[in-house]
Amino acid sequence: MVRKKLIAGNWKMNCLTAEGTELAKAVAAQVKAEKLACDFLVCPPFTLLGAIKKCLRGTKIALGAQDVHFADKGAHTGDISPLMLTDLGCSYVIIGHSERRVDHFESNELIKQKAVAAHKAGLKTVICIGETGAERDAGKTIKVCQDEIFGSVPEDASAQNTVIAYEPIWAIGTGKTPTAADVEDVHAAVRAALAKKLGKATANKMRILYGGSVKPNNAAELLNLPDVDGALIGGASLKADDFVAIARNALK
Ligand code: PEP
Repeated sequence: MVRKKLIAGNWKMNCLTAEGTELAKAVAAQVKAEKLACDFLVCPPFTLLGAIKKCLRGTKIALGAQDVHFADKGAHTGDISPLMLTDLGCSYVIIGHSERRVDHFESNELIKQKAVAAHKAGLKTVICIGETGAERDAGKTIKVCQDEIFGSVPEDASAQNTVIAYEPIWAIGTGKTPTAADVEDVHAAVRAALAKKLGKATANKMRILYGGSVKPNNAAELLNLPDVDGALIGGASLKADDFVAIARNALK
């Protein structure tokens, strides 16, 4: 089964307008020049979506947000609806990032509700899962990840509208990564859980990204494993050269 790799940048709460547009323009120019055979996605903060959309015009780089509310509109102060994201030109949204699960107490149920609403609006979702360091030490990685798949991936998920991102929480922003063998084991277990939930055909087509301290120097090893279909990149997505270098290495 050939699954086209997706190289996705999660800018988190970084960049004001000048820095963000400069970064997006640099990424756009390099991706255009190199014609790499993978899909690209950048997810800036909400405040920059409109400006970055303009920088990505004429490229194949998709625009995504980092979160969404499940309602189309209404009394939800400070929240952003799926329709607002499509209105700004987003085609993707990240849901259930560990920083939202932890900082905002987001449950599997809420994440599933958000994913359903996003799909209804025509957005593709990147649904994040992953274990804490303590869970890993207790040997619970696969159980935690499979439970998150069963709990937060909606029944309407398809290979077209959903991407899974496995992000061990202890690897995010720390410079630490699991071994390549561990990453492949978890991805294979996640795919098995997806097969149980959505059927084998869908599971075989669905992309499962790895995220957590992906850098140009470890990308080739982590991203060319059989069940790894790309990367969700935090820190290194804030440097155009590193982001594109990772994509180059993912195809080796
Ligand atoms: C992330 O938070 O999605 C992430 C993978 O961050 P980093 O690449 O910085 O570890």
